[in-house]
Amino acid sequence: GNFVPPIRNNGGSTSNMTSRVIGKNDDSMGDSTRKCLEMLCGPDGELPEKLRNLEPRLIEHVSNEIMDKDPNVRWDDIANSCQPAIAGLEHAKKCVTEMVIWPLLRPDIFRGCRSPGRGLLLFGPPGTGKTMIGKAIAGEAKATFFYISASSLTSKWIGEGEKLVRALFGVACCRQPAVIFVDEIDSLLSQEQQTDLKNWMKQHGGDLQNVYIFPFLHQARAWIIRNLLEKDGLFKLTEEETNIVCKLTEGYSGSDMKNLVKDASMGPLREALQQGVGITKLNKEDMRPVILKDFETALQEVRPSVSSSELGTYEEWNRQFGSLA
Ligand code: ADP
Repeated sequence: GNFVPPIRNNGGSTSNMTSRVIGKNDDSMGDSTRKCLEMLCGPDGELPEKLRNLEPRLIEHVSNEIMDKDPNVRWDDIANSCQPAIAGLEHAKKCVTEMVIWPLLRPDIFRGCRSPGRGLLLFGPPGTGKTMIGKAIAGEAKATFFYISASSLTSKWIGEGEKLVRALFGVACCRQPAVIFVDEIDSLLSQEQQTDLKNWMKQHGGDLQNVYIFPFLHQARAWIIRNLLEKDGLFKLTEEETNIVCKLTEGYSGSDMKNLVKDASMGPLREALQQGVGITKLNKEDMRPVILKDFETALQEVRPSVSSSELGTYEEWNRQFGSLA
């Protein structure tokens, strides 16, 4: 709709910038870059205005590395990892649906009083499903997903971050509706600025929803064990056994649980191979299902990645700025 990307129009182009038409004899451009630009051209064969005067290599990087045309994540793939437990994912879903998905689907309705907020900040420890939620937003809104890690702008793209961000918004404009997910946004701020951010949010918090995504509750941990193993027909634990695993995994995040299930699922394979059958001769049907003992062994390898003191910091932030604070 009225969205204006942060792209300057520099007027004339220079040799390493895109121009209106992709020069057929432009040797400075590799085949893959040319192909990538051609895919962004309109039916008239011209590059959209928003992409003109950007560096082709950056457009190619955005198209190949940052853009994900089919994020392939739906709400149903995400375990409930939001607080409070009762509102849970329902709360995140409601915020996200009203703030992002509906406005993307019906920009004509979301105008004036209904203009969506400035943004949605998902915060919480790593591995709790924030990126998954970003992808689910794109999946549900049938939008193209763009993922950029803010920390890469200050490490890998030193001095070029601004240009890359411009290329990102340019390509996203041509691929609307689009969801741009900026990961680790706090890495752009110094400690001092983080304090300022808090002040800023105190004043403008109404425009920005904060949803706290935190390490799994007992039932979410049970859900992920069942969900991942059932996909492979390997879930045979009783309710009581599942509860034991859940009790032993207090403070585990979604990705910790995924790693744990992965490791446990190797148990039957390792055992079968110990009997002397080679991997190539192994009959899949001869392997036993994953049992509690496999989880107990895996627990010695896979430890929670978030410490309780780190968790305390997020919880304090949630108390001050969370959407339900
Ligand atoms: P974050 O963005 O919070 O660091 P991710 O969304 O990248 O976390 O999660 C990493 C992986 O861990 C996911 O790809 C998924 O396999 C698993 N995972 C994390 N959280 C969840 C969740 N809430 N439900 C299901 N799987 C999860």
